[in-house]
Amino acid sequence: MKQRITSVLLAIVLLCGIMCGNAFAASQNLSEIRASVEKQYSVKIEFVENESTETDADKINYILEISNHLSRIPSELHEPLVAHLKASGKTVKIRINPQMIVLDGHTALGTYDHSNARITLIDTDEYVFFHEYGHMLHAVLNEKYGATKLTNEWTALNGGQKYGAGESNYDQSVYSNMFISGRSTVNMGEDIAEIFAGFTSQVWVRQKYETLNGTNIWKKAMLLEQAGKSALNAGRVFFPTYVPQMPSPWAVDAIDRGFGDNFDRSVLGSKERDILLYQESISRGEFCEFLVSTINAVSVNRHGKGLYNIYYKWSRENMTWVPCGTINDPKTGNTLLNDGLLPEPYTDGVSTEVLIASYLGVVSGVSDSFFDYYGKITREQAAVMLARACEVLGYAGDVNTVTPTDSDSISPWAKAGVDYVMRTGIMTGSDGAFSPRQTYTYEQAYVTLVRIYDNLAQ
Ligand SMILES: [Zn+2]
Repeated sequence: MKQRITSVLLAIVLLCGIMCGNAFAASQNLSEIRASVEKQYSVKIEFVENESTETDADKINYILEISNHLSRIPSELHEPLVAHLKASGKTVKIRINPQMIVLDGHTALGTYDHSNARITLIDTDEYVFFHEYGHMLHAVLNEKYGATKLTNEWTALNGGQKYGAGESNYDQSVYSNMFISGRSTVNMGEDIAEIFAGFTSQVWVRQKYETLNGTNIWKKAMLLEQAGKSALNAGRVFFPTYVPQMPSPWAVDAIDRGFGDNFDRSVLGSKERDILLYQESISRGEFCEFLVSTINAVSVNRHGKGLYNIYYKWSRENMTWVPCGTINDPKTGNTLLNDGLLPEPYTDGVSTEVLIASYLGVVSGVSDSFFDYYGKITREQAAVMLARACEVLGYAGDVNTVTPTDSDSISPWAKAGVDYVMRTGIMTGSDGAFSPRQTYTYEQAYVTLVRIYDNLAQ
């Protein structure tokens, strides 16, 4: 239910993003619009006045375009970046100067001045905006990640080529694996700005994905992603749709095979392996949806009928929609809940699958009334949920006796669960360790559930 509601909300927000531009402009004045965008993104927007910025309508158009561009930067990057600059007394400024002149007499499309945290643009071209934003990210990473470290790691990806070739000397046959553009060959700063712009604007990277994957250009983007995550504590630097993740080699088989039409892959994404979140942490709620989908697939396989049929009906008493319907025992196929009310123990929003998993005793909230749908799940939490799911399914099959080398660090409440998943081989550690506090990733979850399904389908 939540998934569906979320999609509808998202559609409304997207529609609004497209349609509100005009409505917004027509109904609000310049100062209101400026204040609203400045507040949303914690930036200041400035104008150098001339003929193309003199009216309110001109300025409103510029502001709405900047707002569009800012919405394309992941908030998981923008927010910590802005916070870092704020901590050093700076506010990000975006200045429109249609007649920008630089020292040598040439006009520049954009500049970035780190002492004022100011991006200056000749107009609102998207690529130029992201290029200058890339310079800002570079300056912040120099402070937070370390300029020397970043320079060493970055230039190691140049394949021994030195900067300085310049746009006019860009030799595709020599540089195409290392530099994303001619501009990239000028110096490291331009290279970073170009990588950021290239991987953030439009769908450029999606189109070039096949040719870029595995190149040093790709590795530079990954370095930016990793540096941003570690130094800025950014959730991500690029949207996954622009930098698709690929499954790790050990996960490819399970992901390609899946387990038939009874498994709902929608949480993971589409069947094509190009836009998915393999190495990202899965949330508690999403993992629950994976689990219920797996139990459902096993139920269909065993009994020829699904695990559940839940629908929502209007409760006049509570003045709200309430879930009710049927849940079948995945072990026996007998009906557990017969056209009855499905309990809703949590006060925070959860999906129908979370309620079903709770009903089956597979999951519980972080407190009696709070599930924490978006919370990350640790490997030991996952182990406990998986062990309970196996119990519900009647899973058997010890394959080994393993005591992880880090068993002392496993929480007391998780010990039995971890022991179970290790014994049955449902979860395996790495180099003998279980790493209980590490967050569980989408691909780990997927491989684990395919293992359970394979075992029960035999
Ligand atoms: Zn530049």
